[in-house]
Amino acid sequence: MNLKEQMKDAIISLMDQNKKNKFLKNTVELRCKCGFSEKITYFDFLSGGEFEIGKPTRTVSPFISESIYEETISVTPLMLSRKCSSCGEIIVTVFPISLENIIPMLRSGPPDLLMYG
Ligand SMILES: [Zn+2]
Repeated sequence: MNLKEQMKDAIISLMDQNKKNKFLKNTVELRCKCGFSEKITYFDFLSGGEFEIGKPTRTVSPFISESIYEETISVTPLMLSRKCSSCGEIIVTVFPISLENIIPMLRSGPPDLLMYG
């Protein structure tokens, strides 16, 4: 199993543990270029395992640091592709929270290597 699959599995099992988490009732809008749109909850987005883990990008940390070196953090998008139920085109939606942020939000235990993978 590669790292992406491990992360995906980790998210799916965390979703299982967070079924009652109110935060996951927030919605994401899927909008097609034909004008069709639908809303799904964070839970629906992540729990079905339909999402894909995107390519991580490096970005400068938003936290002010006193170190001399610029700190960069990794941001990995989570994306969902769904067929538009109106025109049949594929709608690709990016989850509003990056992989690096959603995992600690869902995890109640101490952090482990996955967060830093
Ligand atoms: Zn459409």
